[in-house]
Amino acid sequence: MMVNILASKLQQLQQANLYRTRYILQSAKEPLVRHNDRAFLSFSGNNYLGLANHPEVIAACKKGLDQYGVGSGASSVLGGYSCAHHALEEELANFLGYERVLLFSTGYMANLGVITALYTTSDHIFMDRLNHASLVDGCRYSGARFERYQHQNPRDLELRLTKSKAKNKLICTDGLFSMDGDLAHLSEIVAIARRNNSWLMVDDAHGIGVLGCQGRGILDHFGLVAKDVQILVGTLSKAFGTFGAFVAGNEVVIESLIQFARSYMYTTALPPAIAGATRMSLKLLQQDDWRRDRLAVLIKRFQEGARNLGLQVLPSNTPIQLLIIGQSDEAQKMTLRLKQLGVIVDLIRPPTVPNNTARLRISLTANHMEEQIDFLLEALTKVMVRM
Ligand SMILES: *Cc1c(COP(=O)(O)O)cnc(C)c1O
Repeated sequence: MMVNILASKLQQLQQANLYRTRYILQSAKEPLVRHNDRAFLSFSGNNYLGLANHPEVIAACKKGLDQYGVGSGASSVLGGYSCAHHALEEELANFLGYERVLLFSTGYMANLGVITALYTTSDHIFMDRLNHASLVDGCRYSGARFERYQHQNPRDLELRLTKSKAKNKLICTDGLFSMDGDLAHLSEIVAIARRNNSWLMVDDAHGIGVLGCQGRGILDHFGLVAKDVQILVGTLSKAFGTFGAFVAGNEVVIESLIQFARSYMYTTALPPAIAGATRMSLKLLQQDDWRRDRLAVLIKRFQEGARNLGLQVLPSNTPIQLLIIGQSDEAQKMTLRLKQLGVIVDLIRPPTVPNNTARLRISLTANHMEEQIDFLLEALTKVMVRM
């Protein structure tokens, strides 16, 4: 019975061109990847600064493996917490200007942990309609009342906030929206939070390392500081090129997470070697501006090139570039044709994005070359013309 129900659900997905498949990579996630025993030019993923394969990051990871072994062996609260974790937490807190930082095993678990640990049924949460799924799930599990305001509409947010009678209110937003490439209007949101006596939580998964002075992220980009944003979440799996995530906050917030966040307590700590590798990534992304400068050059080249070719690319000064196609089957066909030309981009379809807004997501990294951007633009024009 159950098998029949599942099989029919799978069939429906296939018919709607929403079936997800995984392609098998035979190499590291670099601009040039191997797949099906062939080389492809890849614009997929979140390794924006190219640090996932940096020799010094790899060496730091190996050193950590020799010192600590592979697994951390336990939850952080039961002996899985090493000096590598501790040092990374302190360095991140310094870097971001927060009192404390707590490492989580993934960004998904960080968002789930924060919202469920700090908020409950009597509280009221307001989030941007296009926030990441992990924030939505955190709200659901917390039992708090939650509303989703219109994307990038601070007026809608404030209208909803002023109607709330809850004592504890939270505004929660992505920093850089990863399916649209736009930045939250954070200065306005900070002012709204203050006026309405609400806390603000920002998930800067895609901004940390890429935006702001030394890669400090979206707060620095807008000239904001820790007291403007009570809870900041970031991932280590994107610009840092490693794995895991962190939450930054004040002493009470972080101690509360250690006591109450179930996705913190009831899971194994990150491998210490990953923490060690991340310390090296942090050092590199802080000390070198050239990767962010390179990205800026490539972003400009792609945006201008796309405009000259009449490609409808969303405006974005970030490494996340989007080409809206509309129908899922069209978008799917385009990615297949691009693949035939040797180019891999990310295919994004509902329910990740609203219906009829399937899109191609193009990620630029500091390791791409100008000629590769030009090759991509040429390939995009070819597959558009043939539609
Ligand atoms: C990627 C991402 C996450 C999840 O992070 P993982 O470490 O991959 O679990 C959370 N929030 C946002 C906005 C993200 O883009």
